[in-house]
Amino acid sequence: MKANHQRRLHQPAPGRDLLRLPLLGRLLRHRHGRLALQALLTLGALALIVDGFVGPQSAARNLATVAPWVHLRGLVVIVLLLAGNLFCMGCPFTLPRSLAKSLARRGRRFPARLRNKWLAIFSLFTLFFLYEYLDLWASPWLTAWLIIAYFVASFALEAIFSESAFCKYICPLGSFNMVYSTLSPTRIAVKSPDICANCVGHECVNGSYAPQPVIRLDDIPTAAGESRQIEVAHGPRGTLGCGTELFAPQIRSNLDCTQCLDCVRACPHDNVSLFARRPGAELGRAGSWAQRWDISLLAVALGFMGLSNAFGMAPPYYALQEWLALNLSLSSEFVALLLIFAGLNLLLPAVAALSAAWLGRAAAGFQKRDSLRDTVAAFAPAFAPVGFGIWFAHYSFHLLVGPGLILPVVQEFLGQVGDWERWSFSLDAGLIGMIQLTALLVGFFWSLRLAQKAALRLYRRRALLGMLPWALVFLVMMLLAWQIFTLPMEMRGTLELFG
Ligand code: SF4
Ligand code: SF4
Repeated sequence: MKANHQRRLHQPAPGRDLLRLPLLGRLLRHRHGRLALQALLTLGALALIVDGFVGPQSAARNLATVAPWVHLRGLVVIVLLLAGNLFCMGCPFTLPRSLAKSLARRGRRFPARLRNKWLAIFSLFTLFFLYEYLDLWASPWLTAWLIIAYFVASFALEAIFSESAFCKYICPLGSFNMVYSTLSPTRIAVKSPDICANCVGHECVNGSYAPQPVIRLDDIPTAAGESRQIEVAHGPRGTLGCGTELFAPQIRSNLDCTQCLDCVRACPHDNVSLFARRPGAELGRAGSWAQRWDISLLAVALGFMGLSNAFGMAPPYYALQEWLALNLSLSSEFVALLLIFAGLNLLLPAVAALSAAWLGRAAAGFQKRDSLRDTVAAFAPAFAPVGFGIWFAHYSFHLLVGPGLILPVVQEFLGQVGDWERWSFSLDAGLIGMIQLTALLVGFFWSLRLAQKAALRLYRRRALLGMLPWALVFLVMMLLAWQIFTLPMEMRGTLELFG
């Protein structure tokens, strides 16, 4: 892919360059820095597969269930909030990318019609549905198969298509991480847009692979206002460019960025880096996200999926399932669950977003000026904090109920006696409740502030009227989540030990 050289290069001024930090920066910038992290996580993934197949088929005693469904999910939301999309950076599923890429150097592009987030919404929906329907959290064996399916799907798509289609368009974990990394305090940016304007090869996105060695000279401007020639080498050992086809000087959002740092390693002018920023800075900025239905509905639906995922562990969910079975004469659990999930995860978010957009626009008197698509797109980033608050409250609950349980599970996996007595402790229930409430409230007020900003941008003096329906949606989401978290929840993966 060749980025358009003439397009206006716009980025806010970068903050602190994190790749200049003494040890960590060098490690991350190193040609094999990411590979080392991926190799480590791949070993972990292989351990899960082995234990899933040959270990005890008990959810609370098997690595395949405890690690991903209890600990990893809790850690991912904490790391997203404090650092960034480090899971995608170290993702074991993309380790075969280099190998697959050597098969796909001249691979075809992913079909144009599928280059959007509809598949990602579908795969998120499918994962959460299967999680509930197959009780994935309770089955080490099925979880091991799921991990294998991930490896196979990622490898196959990397081998067939020239871009990282799996990461960008399909992977449900990646989609989750990308949406919520928009809240993170880090981002990829260029140091000097002037250098990019004079860069010929755009290696950050195109990479530096060539079947035969080629040397090129770029005239790059210096700080003193002069220009100097820089030698740029391409060859068979060249570096991969951005797999998700982001052009570094035009990046305005963490959406689609796996923080793999391939662009950093590929840029021949050392002009791109990982920078610190104000958490969620992009969410309040107009134009950070493309005005597209698929992107907007992904952010909205993910928040509602957080609600339904938590709801699936509370008693009223089972009552609803029974009610549906009785009143609609549904004998199949599959159909009842599908109806509940389609209603809560797809229909409800779409109806909520469209109604809020229509009502807000009408109340502010702008129904003739703005399309529904543009109105939803303006408010969609505001769903990230409230949605993340719900996921954080849920995942942190499971993590904090048994934070040490992974250790005896690892001990048993290594053939030792698991020290369950020592590590089967739980955080105080009141403290966990406080953490959950704080996450929900911070998410709600953050979303409210973003909606206010969007409304001021769109409706100026009538902003209050225009933002009210959105505020109501956030309030209902937050209150419903709190209501669910105060119900007795299934202690998945830890039941047998604490029950
Ligand atoms: S980031 Fe580097 S490779 Fe990309 S356009 Fe700028 S100077 Fe060129
Ligand atoms: S922009 Fe850079 S860090 Fe982000 S996905 Fe592309 S290559 Fe990786």
